[in-house]
Amino acid sequence: MLETLDIKITKVKASRLPQVDFDNLPFGRVFTDHMLVADYVDGQWQNFEIVPYGDISVSPAISSLHYGQSFFEGLKAYKHADGKVSVFRPDKNAVRFNKSAERMCMPTLPEEVFVKSIAALVDVERDWIPTREGYSLYIRPYMFATDRFLGVTPSETYKFMILTCPVGAYFSKNLNVKVETEFSRACEGGYGYAKAAGNYGGSMYPAKKALEQGYDQLIWTDAKNHEFIEEMGAANIAFVINNKVVTPSTRDSILNGVTRDSVLTLAKDFGYEVEERRVSVTEVLEAIQNGTCSDAFGAGTAATIAQIASITHEGKVYELPNPSASVFANKMRSTLDDLKCGRIEDARGWNYIV
Ligand SMILES: *Cc1c(COP(=O)(O)O)cnc(C)c1O
Repeated sequence: MLETLDIKITKVKASRLPQVDFDNLPFGRVFTDHMLVADYVDGQWQNFEIVPYGDISVSPAISSLHYGQSFFEGLKAYKHADGKVSVFRPDKNAVRFNKSAERMCMPTLPEEVFVKSIAALVDVERDWIPTREGYSLYIRPYMFATDRFLGVTPSETYKFMILTCPVGAYFSKNLNVKVETEFSRACEGGYGYAKAAGNYGGSMYPAKKALEQGYDQLIWTDAKNHEFIEEMGAANIAFVINNKVVTPSTRDSILNGVTRDSVLTLAKDFGYEVEERRVSVTEVLEAIQNGTCSDAFGAGTAATIAQIASITHEGKVYELPNPSASVFANKMRSTLDDLKCGRIEDARGWNYIV
C-alpha cells in the first residue's frame, strides 16, 4: 500500500493566509487552505486526496452521527529558525490512532500511511506554520463511520481526514481547578484510553458546571470512589512531590499522552525520579498543605504544560506555590519548546522533518 500511497493534490487558486490575523488567533477556528481526505471502502483505504478546505456532503444516516464510531488525534508542526518544518513524534500518534480504531471497532491505518498523510498535508501548508514564540500548526487527524444504516453495528465504510489550524497558546493563565467527585469521564473496562469522540461529548456537562462555578478546568478521578486522580480536562496531570515527578499510571480510563511520555522521559534526563502509580486525591492535597508539592500541571499537545494555581476539593481551596517560580514545570515547558523548534539537540529523533 505504501508504494501506492499516491496522494492527489488539488490546490486552492488563492490562499486565505494574507487575511489571517495572527494577533487574534482563536484556538481551532482558523483552518488552513487544504485538508486531506481518504475513504475506506471494500475493506481498503483508498482515494487519498489533498483538496481545498471546505464543507463535505454526507448522508444524514451516517452511523457515526447516531452511534459514535468516531475518534481523532491531535499533534503539532513547528517551524524552526532555519525554515525547517517538523512534526512532533507523529509515530506515537499513529500507534494511538490504531488503538482508538481497534477499541471503536473501526479499521486501522498503517502507521506509515498515517505519518505520510500528515507530512504531505503539512508540506502543502508550510507557509501557514507560525514562527511566533508559542505558536504552531495544530494537526487534527480523525476517522468516522459513513455507512447509511440505522443499526447498531460496525460500519463498513469510513472516512479518514486531516485538518490543520495555526494556533497560539491554549491556556494563557495558571489554572484554578476543581476535583470532580460526582461525574466521571471514563471507567474501568470503558474506552477512556481511546481518543473517541464520545468521551469528549460526555465530559462537556461536568466541565460546563465547573466553569459556571468559577473553575478553569476539572480534575477527573476514578469512577468508582473518586479517590484517585486520573486526568485534568483533556490533558494528563503530573505533580512534583518531594522532588519526585509523580503521575497517575495509565489504564483503561486514562489517555496515554505523547506529552506525558515526553515529560517523563525528559524528567529523567533532568535527574528527577519518576513515579507512575495510582495517585490519591488525599496524598496530593496533603502534599500541597505541608509544602512538599512544588508543581502541579496538565500535560497535553494543545495545552503543552498548563500549570495549576489552586485545587479545590469538596469546597476547600488548596493553593500551590507561585507557578511562575516553579523550577520543574517552567524548565520542562521551555525545554519542550526548544526541542520542538530545533533550538536544542533532538537526541531521540522526536522531530519528524517534513
Ligand atoms: C489528547 C489527550 C491527552 C493528551 O495527549 P497528548 O498526546 O499529550 O496530546 C490527555 N488526555 C486526554 C483525555 C486527551 O484527550
